[in-house]
Amino acid sequence: MYLKQIEMVGFKSFADRTKITFDTGVTAIVGPNGSGKSNVTESLRWALGEQSAKSLRGAKMPDIIFAGTQKRRALNYAEVIVTFDNSDDYLPSEKTVMITRRLYRNGDSEFLINDKKVRLKDVHELFTDTGLGRDSFSIISQGKIEAIFNSKPEERRAIFEEAAGVLKYKNRKKETESKLSATQENIDRLDDIIYELD
Ligand code: ATP
Repeated sequence: MYLKQIEMVGFKSFADRTKITFDTGVTAIVGPNGSGKSNVTESLRWALGEQSAKSLRGAKMPDIIFAGTQKRRALNYAEVIVTFDNSDDYLPSEKTVMITRRLYRNGDSEFLINDKKVRLKDVHELFTDTGLGRDSFSIISQGKIEAIFNSKPEERRAIFEEAAGVLKYKNRKKETESKLSATQENIDRLDDIIYELD
């Protein structure tokens, strides 16, 4: 699997539709300070389901929408489409995988996998344990190395767990445990009702 293309419109400084195509091998993006290099990596993280506005250097999520300049009006909508070449079937999906994320200023948002509407959870699940997931280490932003060094042992453990491919199962276990506990509560309530009826 490799990242083939990032296409964005209305994302941070990229007001116009912009396509960045990657070849296999190493790609370097160079440019003066403030020209939007970090915005490119952030667009990738955002499309893959980043939920923290703070980690995208904003206060709230709509801050990622082009905010306008002196010459140009702000936009009401941001869209990022990330395309992966999956011809090696690394992801359990099609040969080309396109992830689309859209956000409107009123807060409406949507995710699509190959043009089909999905939940955020589906995007997370597709990438968990692939090294490209939300909590993965394949996108190292400025300051992240320092943050990893300064993190608590439990937080660092999560990084190793993602690398080892066990995070997906831990997440599912947590979900199942919470469903079990909700079911147990329902059973207890039923027992109470039956007791009262008896
Ligand atoms: P450096 O080399 O200093 O790290 P960089 O090339 O990585 O810089 P970025 O940090 O990606 O640059 O881009 C910052 C630019 O993006 C700033 O000019 C900022 O005004 C602009 N920007 C960020 N969010 C928005 C937004 N919502 N609307 C318009 N412009 C934005």
